[in-house]
Amino acid sequence: MTSRPPRTVFRNAHLFDSATATMRPNATVVVEGEVIADVLFDATPVDDARIVDVAGRALLPGLIDAHVHVTSTIPDFLKLSMTPATLIAAQAKDILEAMLERGFTTVRDAAGADHGLVEAVERGHFRGPRLFIAGQAISQTGGHGDTRPLAVKTLFCSCAGLGLLGTIADGVGEVRRAAREQIRSGAHQIKVMAGGGVSSPTDPIDGTQYSLEELRAICEEAEAANTYVMAHAYSPRSITRAVQSGVRTIEHGNLLDEASAREMVRHGATLVPTLATYDSLAREGAKLGWSEAMMTKLDRVKLQGVESLRIAKSVGVPIGFGTDLLGSMHDDQSNEFSLRLPALGAAEILQSATRVNARLLGQEGRLGVIARGAIADLIVVDGDPTTDVTLLQRQGARMPVVMKAGRFVRNRL
Ligand SMILES: [Zn+2]
Repeated sequence: MTSRPPRTVFRNAHLFDSATATMRPNATVVVEGEVIADVLFDATPVDDARIVDVAGRALLPGLIDAHVHVTSTIPDFLKLSMTPATLIAAQAKDILEAMLERGFTTVRDAAGADHGLVEAVERGHFRGPRLFIAGQAISQTGGHGDTRPLAVKTLFCSCAGLGLLGTIADGVGEVRRAAREQIRSGAHQIKVMAGGGVSSPTDPIDGTQYSLEELRAICEEAEAANTYVMAHAYSPRSITRAVQSGVRTIEHGNLLDEASAREMVRHGATLVPTLATYDSLAREGAKLGWSEAMMTKLDRVKLQGVESLRIAKSVGVPIGFGTDLLGSMHDDQSNEFSLRLPALGAAEILQSATRVNARLLGQEGRLGVIARGAIADLIVVDGDPTTDVTLLQRQGARMPVVMKAGRFVRNRL
């Protein structure tokens, strides 16, 4: 006798089809072990299974956030770089768990998380979304990853003074070594700082970072390891230079214009906007003691955020879903859904957080979709999130079921 893995059947579900961004009624979804074994649209009885009657509620693929920093446990990078890694890991545990409670079953870490955290989640020490990590972000001297105050001349710790978040590399040789080092230590993708940032003290937001040769070298190393590069970039110039060098995803991209959007389409790049962080920082930044220069940069990118979504949509740039939150602001993760409403429809926003993000992770057909053979990451939502996206907010309170890889994170049905 062969033993079959345990089966769970979700009946009478209103299924979100992430390929068409539509809801389909009367769905039955059969989960066997870690995968979806079948999706049926008639009332075929399935025996020998645990039955969950969804009672007409919405059934969605587990959500994906393509830009998080689970080890940014406090919003002060200098202090963070002097915090023991063990304490950061303990704090990251809480951040990961809360993400899962909000329905995020997969996240892409945009710098900070290491292979230890990936394993802690895989082995079940920590409850959290599966992680796709970038390791340390690669930054030029004085770039967005260089968080040293002006008076500090030296790199003041063995990890280049940046803790877990970043590494400084200048010149083609150094950036190649830095990229190879990330890949060697388990990075799934490479992160590069290709332009100015809000939270770094000395770089102009519309400046560019790295020479084309350096950017190209980093992309070559990623391609050699069968992966890709994600680039932090705001300005049209930094976006254009990045995608022309082979970068596949543009992070933030708030100052995108039509010409740079067309360049993204030409090179098959995806935009990963992160509106949630500007919204949170506008409320919290002054309390954090951010300088006037940093708050001015923040105002500028916040205003342009929604506009960049409108431009990307009109030109046809694929739009992913990211949040980029720090410290206790992680609670605002699901605000990203409603912050996009001025530019995008609710169903499109859900598609960003499922299908588009799965594709940028190279996980099309496995994640972000309810289909035969996909990993059984599922959430049940009380109501229809394609008409009211705020149902995904409030820390998952309107999500009676969260399932990751065939296992219930919770089941209140
Ligand atoms: Zn980030």
